[in-house]
Amino acid sequence: MNRSRKVKILATLGPASSDKAMIGELHRAGADLFRINMSHTQPEEMHRLVGLIREVEAEAERPIGILVDLQGPKFRIGSFAEGGTPLSRGQHFILDSNAEPGDASRVFLPHPEIFAMLQPGHRLLLDDGRVQLMTREVFEDHAVATVENGYRLSDRKGVSFPDTLLLLSSVTRKDRVDLEAALTAGIDWVAMSFIQRPADIDEIRALTDGKVGILAKIEKPQAVEHLAEIIEVADALMVARGDLGVEVPLEKVPGIQKRITRGARRAGKPVVVATQMLESMINAPVPTRAEVSDVATAVFEGADAIMLSAESAAGAFPVEAVATMDRIASEVEQDINFRSIINAQRAEPLATDADAIAGAVRQIAETLNLAAICCYTGSGTTGIRVSRERPQVPVIALSPVVATARRLALGWGLHSVFGEEAEDFDGMVNRACELAVTEGFARPGDRIIITAGVPVGRPGTTNSLRIAVIREDGKGAA
Ligand code: PEP
Repeated sequence: MNRSRKVKILATLGPASSDKAMIGELHRAGADLFRINMSHTQPEEMHRLVGLIREVEAEAERPIGILVDLQGPKFRIGSFAEGGTPLSRGQHFILDSNAEPGDASRVFLPHPEIFAMLQPGHRLLLDDGRVQLMTREVFEDHAVATVENGYRLSDRKGVSFPDTLLLLSSVTRKDRVDLEAALTAGIDWVAMSFIQRPADIDEIRALTDGKVGILAKIEKPQAVEHLAEIIEVADALMVARGDLGVEVPLEKVPGIQKRITRGARRAGKPVVVATQMLESMINAPVPTRAEVSDVATAVFEGADAIMLSAESAAGAFPVEAVATMDRIASEVEQDINFRSIINAQRAEPLATDADAIAGAVRQIAETLNLAAICCYTGSGTTGIRVSRERPQVPVIALSPVVATARRLALGWGLHSVFGEEAEDFDGMVNRACELAVTEGFARPGDRIIITAGVPVGRPGTTNSLRIAVIREDGKGAA
């Protein structure tokens, strides 16, 4: 299977997409990677889903990326004696450490450590921002707040603290259990929710031991403040617009989306635009015009991947949602303005061998109108650096490491292939020529460009490139 689309589609699995037939359909409709959201999935179910994805992968003979999304420090209030309470603007309301059911004046906050960090004037956003409180006074075991908007508050609603620096580990006990299960299951990317600082990424990296890529979800204002440092330490980023739109005013989200995608592209870190992309398709077979435009904007920005959440996880039209995203993305990539917009955001190569070669490879391939770029990549770095160049020419990323081939499914424009390494550079050139034909990117007589590290098998040594003509029988270089 060879897709010509450059941007990747990441589809979240859930009750609407939890059997093999449906996962296969989503893959055929255009999903390149799958997300398993641990906020709604038990480790046993995650294991089962990973097994099904791997079966689909084996049948499709294409590497499929799997992202496990850890819940992170998500806070919730306790319950009410009557299931909830109406709140009116201006009234006082207390969050406390008393586990008794709440009433019209108070509710339990089962996270006592928060009271040491809250300060008067800090906002509390409950139920996805529908209820906004302003802290007036803070004590050791409770806080008194004023209700800023009238609404009903009910049992176990989520609460966020956009103004409060939470000096807590962003890896909870549940995350550790889920992460261990995910590493055992053999996943490719782990997403960290509600991170605030680069140190949060270091913490998870110490737990993953280099086995998976680490994707930082940007959804807190503190993370936006530290964006440059987070981009530096993470392997990939996500514009997690759902929670971001709760923690910062909604009108700021589009600007932040641009900052994240541009910063990630400049650094060469894959970036995912997520949440409510085709929200109305949860219940309808066609999207709204505004949703189509939102997906198109992310593709024009050069995002590496666009994500479906409830549309594929719990909606009535999961396959239609993936197919719709695929059609929008493919159309945008054919648009007459697409190339110039993508090129305008291209950053200069960094002063490293890998970047200099990636830049040269793109330039040569485009100048000579070559049929494909083939890069040999053990750790995936060469693939990612070539992807950073956003070449017009198809890129085959060939890796002898199956985990690398799967991880690269996230990279813009990368057609990743798992296959054995050749013995020397001539062998690599021959294999690349054959592969370009068998994967459907070139025909006998076409020319391609190959890049690799020589001698073979030493990671981090990208140092060679060659232009080769494919033999008339398609078997190797002429
Ligand atoms: C988001 O908040 O946009 C997001 C992707 O996270 P989750 O789906 O876990 O809420």
